[in-house]
Amino acid sequence: MYVRGVGPRVAELLAAKDIQTAEDLLYHLPFRYEDRQNPRSLDELKPGEMASVIAEVRGAALLRTRRMPIFELTVGQGRHALKCLWFHGTYLEGKFKAGQTVALFGKVEPSRSTSNFKMIQPQFELLPDASDDAETRLLEVGRITPVYESLGGSRLTSRWQRKVIFNLLEGMRGAVPECLPHTMLERLGLPVRETALREVHFPPEGTPMTQLQASATPAHQRLIFEELFFLELGLELKRRRVRERAGISFATNDKVREAIREVLPFHPTAAQKRSLAEIVADMRQPSPMRRLLQGDVGSGKTIVALQAMLVAMENGYQAALMAPTEILATQHFLAARKLLERSSRRYRIVLLTGSLDEDRKRANRGLINRGEAQLIIGTHALIEEKVEFDRLGLVVVDEQHRFGVLQRFRLMKKPTQAEPDVLVMTATPIPRTLALSLYGDLEVSVLDELPPGRTPIVTRRVPGERADEVWEFVRKQVALGRQAYIVYPVIEGSKEDQAERDFYLDESEGEHAAHVSVTRKIARRSKGAELFPEPAQEAYPASKTDLKSAVEMHEKLRTGALAGLRIGLLHGRLDADEKEVIMRRFQRGEIDVLVATTVIEVGVDVPNASVMVVEHAERFGLAQLHQLRGRVGRGAAKSYCILVTGPRVSPLGEERLNAMVRTQDGFELAELDLSMRGPGEFFGTRQAGLPDFRVANLVRDRQLLEVAKQEAARFANSSQEDKGREGEGTEAERARVWARLKEAWQRRYGLVEAG
Ligand code: ADP
Ligand code: MG
Repeated sequence: MYVRGVGPRVAELLAAKDIQTAEDLLYHLPFRYEDRQNPRSLDELKPGEMASVIAEVRGAALLRTRRMPIFELTVGQGRHALKCLWFHGTYLEGKFKAGQTVALFGKVEPSRSTSNFKMIQPQFELLPDASDDAETRLLEVGRITPVYESLGGSRLTSRWQRKVIFNLLEGMRGAVPECLPHTMLERLGLPVRETALREVHFPPEGTPMTQLQASATPAHQRLIFEELFFLELGLELKRRRVRERAGISFATNDKVREAIREVLPFHPTAAQKRSLAEIVADMRQPSPMRRLLQGDVGSGKTIVALQAMLVAMENGYQAALMAPTEILATQHFLAARKLLERSSRRYRIVLLTGSLDEDRKRANRGLINRGEAQLIIGTHALIEEKVEFDRLGLVVVDEQHRFGVLQRFRLMKKPTQAEPDVLVMTATPIPRTLALSLYGDLEVSVLDELPPGRTPIVTRRVPGERADEVWEFVRKQVALGRQAYIVYPVIEGSKEDQAERDFYLDESEGEHAAHVSVTRKIARRSKGAELFPEPAQEAYPASKTDLKSAVEMHEKLRTGALAGLRIGLLHGRLDADEKEVIMRRFQRGEIDVLVATTVIEVGVDVPNASVMVVEHAERFGLAQLHQLRGRVGRGAAKSYCILVTGPRVSPLGEERLNAMVRTQDGFELAELDLSMRGPGEFFGTRQAGLPDFRVANLVRDRQLLEVAKQEAARFANSSQEDKGREGEGTEAERARVWARLKEAWQRRYGLVEAG
């Protein structure tokens, strides 16, 4: 479709932002609005608030201070004045002329000079005057004006988007196709698509500003609902399809129960019993199981999975357990082997990881293929190494991966065989409402109880200058026969690109980016030169961040503060064999102190380790800190988590550290993490199976998510393609829903499954 203002060059820029169609552009919503109808008066401002004001340019100057050039702009309304400062603001020279009208958005700060207040690095826009074209004036003056994130360079600014989107909507007047049935919209009191799009970009006069900023207008709600509805409808259908497929009905008789009883090394907790009962009930059903086992670190998921695998094996099927790392796969393998030694039955267990040598791999594949191995434990290699199972009955996926993995396991099975059951385990304590809606195609079991005998972990914050006391403490603990972890954010050197995969550096947080040069880099790169969406704060002079690294600190501690102890080093750049050797030595107690990166984060289980020291703790995400802390407190000994902080801690960093000290409850931390970071960051990569949303936000829009889920179930129930029943809306409307569903899932989520 031809869009005025979008030629090939611009189309290329837009494509880089994942905007391919006119529709994509229309769903690129303003991230805030300015009320230019009733502008704020300068004398109403209050220090500390984020405010948007319109004022007249009075004067501008570039001040060359010793540290950096600062651009100073003075604006006024009548007697009142406001000062605006931009650090390193050389690029603003010549941009403002006295008498021009400018719209500013920023945090109001008290000022020492004659003007009452100041703003530091506000966003600004010069308003059009009589010499500008009528359209620009129409869209930007005397109305509620949308502000967009720049889509690239100095060209695709907010102003550009306003015009293009305005023209696009004008051109499509009366012709924007609806994708939801009218009866549904009426029931929910939501506007039709065209109205919603128009009003979300160009709110009608009198729309309350608070509603707009909170994405709570009916127009916003309609677009959010639409997005969530198609997500939920897709999940609903997936769930229905699985129920229709042929699975395996596993039997659970006395023989099976006895096999489980034999190997259990302890009394399961009530939560473990309940979860296992839920899993086994699924396994008995003729349709394939799709279940999520959710439990905080240390809640004992592994033994539950192992019991389920025994059910499969006792029924003459193979069970496979897939772990995210070689360390974990090996650990599971060793633990399972030890446990099954207690059994009177002879099960064969094999390990399959990428780093095994080719002969071994081939031999193990043979064992699996001929059905001579019953329990198969491995990494991604299980799907990558073309393993042909003989009679695969149950797949357990430990931590992290999700979508994709399941699909490929399906591809692997032979056509004549029944579909294996799948159990996914996660230690991310997803708030329950979210889990139910998100993992809409999985049933959920929750381990909400820790095994008995755990003593709470003592968590302390210590500033970096007092690290000596920490090392002294580590020495004492080792003298008592305990072991310790010391974790660093990077492997070597202080460059951030060496961070372990998934490592979360909070340099990207707007507020931390007050670090001026960083702010400007970010602003330039992603937001265009004119708008600076990061709330800018007081700046401190740019200095290179110095991060301690695992490699360097290993050397330093070994020869210094911890000399004489047995110290190991573990990080992602070691090859798999080396990692395994180190991990095994630590497990056997041959290493006292393990200096590591976040490779040890997930799932590692060494009960004798009682101290977790995290350096630069302020730079880790909450979920990560919680995972790391979960590595200790697994045995009888009193355990400690010591969070050592670097020289600068951002306000959000403070909040995270305080939360860690305050609570050990994974769900509480998850809720906080979710609200601090938003769901995208919270769930990590796309691998976590979470789609990218265009307009929805899972935290903010939780309630709509519930509504969408209900509506999706209702629609699927009433509108099955079998013609006999009446459906929701007209036949044409239903057809559009199905068409839209396909498109949405293909394009946005990439999760379309055949069949
Ligand atoms: P996670 O849920 O983090 O994977 P694990 O399965 O690794 O937890 O279990 C953590 C530790 O608790 C292991 O050492 C395990 O043997 C032990 N454990 C699990 N369940 C129980 C129980 N019911 N009683 C005592 N110890 C248990
Ligand atoms: Mg685990």
